[in-house]
Amino acid sequence: MAGKIVLLGSGELGKELVIALQRLGQYVVACDNYLGAPAMQVADEFEVLNMLSATELDAVVAKHQPQLIVPEVENIRTERFYDYEKQGITVVPSGKAANYTMNRKLIRDLAAKELGVKTAPYQYATTAEEFEKAVHHIGMPCVVKPLMSSSGKGQSVIKKEEEIEAAWQYALSGSRGDLQEVIVEGFVDFISEITLLTVTQHNGPTLFCPPIGHRQERGDYQESWQPSRQTEAELAEAQNMAQKVTEALGGAGIWGVEFFIAKDGVYFSELSPRPHDTGMVTLAGTQNLNEFELHARAILNLPIPEVTLDRQGVSAVILADQQIDKRPNYSGLERALNASQSDIRIFGKPTARPYRRMGVSLTYGNVDGDLILLRKKAAKLAAQVKIS
Ligand code: AMP
Repeated sequence: MAGKIVLLGSGELGKELVIALQRLGQYVVACDNYLGAPAMQVADEFEVLNMLSATELDAVVAKHQPQLIVPEVENIRTERFYDYEKQGITVVPSGKAANYTMNRKLIRDLAAKELGVKTAPYQYATTAEEFEKAVHHIGMPCVVKPLMSSSGKGQSVIKKEEEIEAAWQYALSGSRGDLQEVIVEGFVDFISEITLLTVTQHNGPTLFCPPIGHRQERGDYQESWQPSRQTEAELAEAQNMAQKVTEALGGAGIWGVEFFIAKDGVYFSELSPRPHDTGMVTLAGTQNLNEFELHARAILNLPIPEVTLDRQGVSAVILADQQIDKRPNYSGLERALNASQSDIRIFGKPTARPYRRMGVSLTYGNVDGDLILLRKKAAKLAAQVKIS
């Protein structure tokens, strides 16, 4: 492909994707709303713009005339994608996928109502009265999330009556964009949660990566491991749901499909039509091709003969604990990098704030090795890196 690729969203996932694309000879323009974003540091060109502004987005597309538009975040005026598709530009994986997954309502209704995929019971609310009714209808405990938000912003669990008002206010304060609507979901008492990286192709079958287990705090991932041990029945159920939902949304690329594994079966939670943060564990060499390489091949219509599990791996996030307004300094790398069968990736973000993800530690070992030990090691290495 001789044309340009416009990457919308230039975080750590975008950075690894740019590297994968460039290794296949591609030319990438990295976009985000701040200067010095990780992917911009390695791209051929970059643009700083408000990606929620239709005018600014149109201007970048008109200027670069890309062959491919690759969204890497949700925070984009995705309604414009349908028009870009009419102009002959390919949106990855499809305009519909990017648009539907930006808003929890579209994707949840598609999965639960149209496709009959099992999800937690849910209801929507736009006012405090509707909200209270929804909480009582679903029952407590329940989980509250703004329809448009990310990284757990505005999300909380209601366990008792007195918490309803605060949960409503918190959800509103965490809502992104102009949409003031929330989803109230039944609490799934899950045993574990997994991400099933799923690759759809134009010229090949849908491929499933070995499942990834992960642990969340504050609605954000803290550590992930691959493979997570699921029964064949659980895996088949998850793969079947992932196939249905990705087929309905269309296009080629990698998808992070999230599930809860509970005593009474597998629940679909949500999906992102792009590399997934928990999938950073594939940077530990767990698979023959990491999630960024798989995405790059799929969107360029290049063959993927197979996905193999080569070793067991763990990723643990390195978080900032303070506000830093200039390029942060990293210490402790000498110690952390001294460990065998492990690695540290620093994303190079230009500033920091409490809980911002700044890097990741990676550990790996034999497929049959001790996962608990690997997880402990990854957590220890992540904690050794200090940001100031
Ligand atoms: P989400 O932003 O929807 O991915 O939610 C973030 C995290 O909150 C999930 O990974 C779960 O750990 C937790 N969570 C979300 N929805 C539910 C639910 N219905 N029941 C239990 N936990 C949930």
